[in-house]
Amino acid sequence: MRRWLFGGRASSFADMTDLPKSLRDALQAEFTFWTTTVATHSRADDGTEKLLLELHDRQRIECVLLRDGERRTVCISSQVGCAMGCVFCASGIDGVVRNLTTGEILEQLLRLARLLPATERISHIVVMGMGEPLANLDRLLPALAVAQDPEGMGISQRRITISTVGLPPGIERLVTENPGYHLAVSLHAADDELRTRLVPVNRAIGLAEVMEAADRYWEVSGRRLTFEYVLLGGVNDSPAQARDLVRLLGGRAALVNVIPYNSVEGLPWKEPSTTARERFLEVLREAGVNVQVRRRKGARIDAACGQLRRISARAAAAEAVIPRADIASPAG
Ligand code: SF4
Repeated sequence: MRRWLFGGRASSFADMTDLPKSLRDALQAEFTFWTTTVATHSRADDGTEKLLLELHDRQRIECVLLRDGERRTVCISSQVGCAMGCVFCASGIDGVVRNLTTGEILEQLLRLARLLPATERISHIVVMGMGEPLANLDRLLPALAVAQDPEGMGISQRRITISTVGLPPGIERLVTENPGYHLAVSLHAADDELRTRLVPVNRAIGLAEVMEAADRYWEVSGRRLTFEYVLLGGVNDSPAQARDLVRLLGGRAALVNVIPYNSVEGLPWKEPSTTARERFLEVLREAGVNVQVRRRKGARIDAACGQLRRISARAAAAEAVIPRADIASPAG
């Protein structure tokens, strides 16, 4: 069963053709193969595919398959919604609904794996979808353990990235329990005042504590840290702010991922201009910071986290009011 599930791409117990028929029938009668259903499946021209999955309680989550050269990276969610409240993010707008279970986290991997042809496998995992992964480590870590297991999906731990706003207790737990993952800490601003505006949870933590926890992780794991910085037009993209970031990094051997903002319908934040973006990058590069710009993939299918879920929720709400509107409007 394990082989069928993780390597064989079975999508039902009936597919497990080397099991006795009576056992397959018994499994079919007693268990549910999938706990999610695919609400929508979209594919962009660049090969990015996105699934909106509906959970047993009708909540919806998103997960994405990205194709980049030989890489087959999946981006998965860890919670329904998110409590961190980053002001530019569609996932956090309505707060957190609940944690995903270990099974629901794994199921995203299994569903995405089945989008690949038999000759390809998932090579990298990023836990960067909806939710704050370090707020749900109890369920995430067992799911990632199965992903790593040679008898599971066999994905090297070094190819798994956990992305966080930087919750020090969660980082500390990884330090003591499992420091082998690649950690990506989202900064988005290099001063506390702006960061608290953009990432409200920062008010209770503060950048100094985030950087201290990140340093601890680096010391123990020996793995280079990545800092994420979503570049918002006219908000955090000035040369002075780039210099603040250089100061904050203080010569750490880190990679800075600059992510030009992907505009979200209904939110006021803008993409940075090309000039602002290039100026920002120039300051970092001139200071010797190792920087890369994350290319946007799948923009046409709303691949930024939380967008598809919100659009589908709005569509469902619109559908729900259509009959009432029909009755109420004399114009029909
Ligand atoms: S950016 Fe990440 S941490 Fe922030 S609200 Fe969105 S999902 Fe949560």
